Amino acid sequence: MKRIAVVDNEKLKDKEKNLYIQGICPVNRAGIECIAVEDYGLKIDELTCIGCGLCVKAAPNAIKIVNLPEILDKKPIHRYGINKFALFTLPTPLFGKVVGILGVNGIGKSTAINILAGLFKPNFGNLEKKETNFKDIIDFFKGTETQLFFENVREGKIKVSYKPQHVDLIPKTKKGKVKDLLKKVDEKNMLQEIAEELEISDILGNDIDKISGGELQRVAIAATALKKANFYIFDEPTSYLDIKQRINTSKFIRSLSDENTAVMVVEHDLIIFDYLSDLAHIMYGSEDVYGNISGLKSTKNAINVYLDGYLKEENLRFRNKTIKFEPRKIFAKKKEEALISWENITKNLGNFTLIAEKGSISKGEVIGILGENGIGKTTFVKILANVIKKDAGILNENIKVSYKPQYLASNNELVINVLRETIEKYTAQIINPLDIKPLLDKRLDELSGGELQKVAIALCLSKDAGLYLLDEPSAYLDIEQRLIVSKVIRDFMELKNTSALIVEHDLLFLDYLSDKLMVFDGIPAKEGIVKGPFSMEEGMNLFLKKLGITLRRDKESLMPRINKLDSKLDREQKEKGKFYYA
Ligand code: SF4
Repeated sequence: MKRIAVVDNEKLKDKEKNLYIQGICPVNRAGIECIAVEDYGLKIDELTCIGCGLCVKAAPNAIKIVNLPEILDKKPIHRYGINKFALFTLPTPLFGKVVGILGVNGIGKSTAINILAGLFKPNFGNLEKKETNFKDIIDFFKGTETQLFFENVREGKIKVSYKPQHVDLIPKTKKGKVKDLLKKVDEKNMLQEIAEELEISDILGNDIDKISGGELQRVAIAATALKKANFYIFDEPTSYLDIKQRINTSKFIRSLSDENTAVMVVEHDLIIFDYLSDLAHIMYGSEDVYGNISGLKSTKNAINVYLDGYLKEENLRFRNKTIKFEPRKIFAKKKEEALISWENITKNLGNFTLIAEKGSISKGEVIGILGENGIGKTTFVKILANVIKKDAGILNENIKVSYKPQYLASNNELVINVLRETIEKYTAQIINPLDIKPLLDKRLDELSGGELQKVAIALCLSKDAGLYLLDEPSAYLDIEQRLIVSKVIRDFMELKNTSALIVEHDLLFLDYLSDKLMVFDGIPAKEGIVKGPFSMEEGMNLFLKKLGITLRRDKESLMPRINKLDSKLDREQKEKGKFYYA
């Protein structure tokens, strides 16, 4: 198979149009049936297709023709159907190691994980095949570590425990108190211990449908770890978690791997991915068309290859552009007057009190906000956006504010209608780099979490404002989308010389974007104290010191990396009080 054709026949219901598409195919015109018009829509024969792209031009939202790299001139491990997505191989679990999978969304990570977890039987591209047995799988992976893995599965030596990606769906199928639900899966009799480690002891008595996203995530991780297994899989374990929880959860997940236990993780926070994994696969391909997995690499090497977009061993470029992190520019103090300033603001919400000390934001500044969950970051942003009123204190603002909330509401409006102004004014700056064009004909309630996030960011940025407030803009985005979104926001602020305040838990995202930092201190759910804005160095030092971690910049990629606890660098940086880049 040299190329792959994916057809969305839901969008090809018009028989006349289908006949037209068939008629423009040069292979059909030469008398060979490459495109067939069936009752259900179009069928494209990948073996005779010459990849001219004429049919794609005629139906860009419904047909994708992608040339496959030479190394994929072979049968896939799974094909979803005729002219549907193909997955070519699987990642390799290793005992005693945490193996990470790096890659964009929509290229089969969940399919691969579901096959390894035994939840899904592959068909090896044979669409007629009804039953797959272990012999087929073992033959497919002959001579590899994955062969050994499936032999162990066949002999009943592997027991898999799997945390799915969408923890928000758990309350839809599980009801009752957290403690009772965890007790049911506590095969190790370690509920109390694991609850303490993941800091969920206080919510064990709560109903599962009354806890926050971050709590739900840690309950799902606890449930996975409480099962007696020797292969643990965590699909996006840090979504909804703040940085402190991300570090703590990563340490916990790492502690599960030993000589008899393998751990596999999919994670989109690159700094956490680096901290969490011993080895990594790169997953590449074309969204909704095909996915393949590289050989195993050291995590550092995998990240560098991923950023570079080129797999040397396979001689394969999987992205046109290389991603580079520029050395941080020293913030030059701007002379403009404060756009917005505050002093001794307080706000009481039930048992929670927010106190904002003195601070201000000037024109052209991008300010990152760091802090634990439940410490009042969103409340503060809402006060500045005039969504809620302060109880006391001084707030001077004489600017228009555009606000993207943390939780995104969707309805049946078409994206093209919602973003009409953005398309008119900022196609080059926002619509194209965020790749929103393929979404324009969709309704908001049809979009995935990541797609909805991109639309909400585009809408927020295109409003005429002096200050842009973005609450967790990286949520639901994959690594590549995060890097693109951070660049779009940064470039947009520079272009318009306006300011932005960004609440975020992804340190890489904030590090790239921010000129300055605000740090929220206090006790979650009780008291939040707003501090700053500080210079990046001062703010990061304050924040990282509380977490007890140090960051360095990788010499090759210039990406920030967390130093191993008690390593030489970690100790040196702590001694000098430089928690952020020695
Ligand atoms: Fe025909 Fe293939 Fe060209 Fe489409 S890309 S028109 S199927 S030859």
